[in-house]
Amino acid sequence: MKKTILTGIRPTGNLHLGHYFGACQNWLKLQEDYDFYLEIADVQALTDNFDHPEKVRKNVKEITIDILSAGIDPNKVHLFLQSKIPEIAELTVFYSNLVTIARLYRNPTVKTEIAQKKALFGNEGESVTYGFVGYPVSQAADITAFRGEWIPVGEDQLPLIEQCREIVRKFNHIYGKTLLEPEPLLSETPRIKGLDGSEKMGKSLGNAIYLSDDEKTIHDKIMNAITDPNKIKKDDPANPDICMVYYYHKLIKNENIHTVCEECKNGTRGCVQCKKELIEKMNEFLEPIREKRSYYLEHSEEVKEILEKGSKEAREKAKEVVKEVKEKMQIDYENFD
Ligand code: SF4
Repeated sequence: MKKTILTGIRPTGNLHLGHYFGACQNWLKLQEDYDFYLEIADVQALTDNFDHPEKVRKNVKEITIDILSAGIDPNKVHLFLQSKIPEIAELTVFYSNLVTIARLYRNPTVKTEIAQKKALFGNEGESVTYGFVGYPVSQAADITAFRGEWIPVGEDQLPLIEQCREIVRKFNHIYGKTLLEPEPLLSETPRIKGLDGSEKMGKSLGNAIYLSDDEKTIHDKIMNAITDPNKIKKDDPANPDICMVYYYHKLIKNENIHTVCEECKNGTRGCVQCKKELIEKMNEFLEPIREKRSYYLEHSEEVKEILEKGSKEAREKAKEVVKEVKEKMQIDYENFD
């Protein structure tokens, strides 16, 4: 029996190289060995976009196409939409009694995000919603609805798994052994730097290369990438370690990487030539993804069917769990005895 694994992604924008190298590559390995539930967390995306639901709706299709184009095989993975599984919402309500507000506020992930909101909007009371503070509870529902045994996470998400484990323990203590305590599957999730040299690639930072970028966009973005500022002339020796062009040559595994490094250091390579080579390599790297993207864009009915099939499979499992949960909580009412 394959172990069950669950992970999710919020549909808040197209996938970029940060997602690809930070998560998708790991998913491609996991899909071979696990019973893999991959959730497109549209309901959770509403915690930050409740007043712009159209953004979430648009991104659901886009991100599904990106995920499939990146190589996720819908015959190996239950690719599903969170809002298609009402049982998750039910569990969220049930679990909300098992965690205190104080505990949620102590969750380091929530704490950090509240501090960020406070910095942006000033008054915490006016900017932090009940849904936002409660999202670890909804995540516990996501995980337990499918009896997730292993949850691939980075170090920064460990508090969310611990919160889920606490909820599970409390539920089992009060109502009897029902739910599985998930284990974190610590995966190396490298943080990919942005074209501007920032430590993180992100949509809001405007420094990302998207899987959906066309050739012209790739050209323009790479031509504007940050290089060694001390290299003024073509034959100036430079330091590739502080150059984002070199960073991306390495990231996409340019087989000429040693030549790039040596020529940069000894001043026999100009930045324009180096960028042009990266543009070519980046387009080669993205080409198979682009091909799949254009297939799925032309066959959007198939994309819808894939999500429907995955959601149906996921719901079957979630229904079993909720049935047992309700029995244990004595709210099943199959009969009045
Ligand atoms: Fe960067 Fe290439 Fe210029 Fe060196 S030659 S600074 S690696 S762009």
